[in-house]
Amino acid sequence: MIEAKGWAAHDPRSPMRAFAFQRRDPGPREVLIDILFCGICHSDLHQVRNEWANARYPLVPGHEIVGRVAAAGAEVGTLKAGDTVGVGCFVGSCGTCEACRRGLQNYCERGAIGTYNAIDARGEPTYGGYSDRIVVDERFVLRVRAKDRLEAVAPLLCAGITTWSPLRRWKVGKGHRVAVLGLGGLGHMAVKLAAALGAEVTLLSSSPGKKKDAQRLGAHDFVPTAEAGKLGPRFDFILDTVSAPHDLNALAQTLRLDGTLILLGAPPAALPLQPFALIMKRRSIAGSLVGGIPETQEVLDFCAERGIAADVETIPVQEVDRAYDRMLKGDVRYRFSIDAASLRR
Ligand code: NAP
Ligand code: ZN
Repeated sequence: MIEAKGWAAHDPRSPMRAFAFQRRDPGPREVLIDILFCGICHSDLHQVRNEWANARYPLVPGHEIVGRVAAAGAEVGTLKAGDTVGVGCFVGSCGTCEACRRGLQNYCERGAIGTYNAIDARGEPTYGGYSDRIVVDERFVLRVRAKDRLEAVAPLLCAGITTWSPLRRWKVGKGHRVAVLGLGGLGHMAVKLAAALGAEVTLLSSSPGKKKDAQRLGAHDFVPTAEAGKLGPRFDFILDTVSAPHDLNALAQTLRLDGTLILLGAPPAALPLQPFALIMKRRSIAGSLVGGIPETQEVLDFCAERGIAADVETIPVQEVDRAYDRMLKGDVRYRFSIDAASLRR
């Protein structure tokens, strides 16, 4: 077994703290990764505070991991010690169901194994990236081609792929009008990626102070969410990244004929929907969960080629609780990234 240092929640309310635990020795097809950086996703906060009512404590969050391969099992194909790699939201899946065969391991019919807060195939709890090292099956390890700013690459493993996957699924590009609702970790990646794919992007935000940033990130227009009703039906797609309850009916009114509202944000409460909001213009509502391994590799490569990464504030792990509070206040531009060196001190 390998000694590991993590940062864990032990219940929904107490401050998180250092947690010593063990990682298994890598099997023949597994790699041991020294973690360099791990992004802080709002899902980590939902889980740590048990807002989705399924937390298992002690809980070591983190699913936006970038690190270096420290050791590779004897049968590992393409990865070797020293390679820069990424790990996203899941570390296992059945590999044989239809979804897995289509490269959509995130929708595995038997359930993808989450990078944290899950039970793996051996019956052991999974612990995530707020830690110094992790052991992962090579099939769930991504290759990172970016050479620098790895702290800003880490968020591509969740915020990046979660927004990329629907953009690709609905073939968003030139000629499409896309609205992004909420400028946070997911939202700022949605703006960058949709703009890079050639769409005309409008940012809908509850924070008027983010207007300048929206433009800098590539949005063509900025509209306070409260004023979105004045826009009339104009968008082909809305990527809804909001983490708290909000009104879908007014939002749906901004979709044109056959437009699609895609839910990415996962507030714990139900969001009431008036059927006429969809009926009147044959609108659709959809959801999307992170993305499969091939499309995660695709977004990493796309971003490396285009020089796209997240806007991050790098922090030591000891500041995670404060970072969560700041994230809730919208006081981060636009993702925290944990420097895992802070766990080794
Ligand atoms: P985040 O950085 O906190 O951003 C959320 C944004 O939502 C905020 O920046 C804010 O944008 C807006 N917002 C927050 N509270 C609001 C409120 N009360 N009313 C209106 N707008 C509000 O969070 P994130 O990491 O991007 O994650 C967003 C959500 O996506 C979370 O629920 C997370 O669990 C979920 N998620 C889902 C997937 C998936 O696979 N579908 C993957 C990752 C995360 P403005 O200030 O611009 O309004
Ligand atoms: Zn996430």
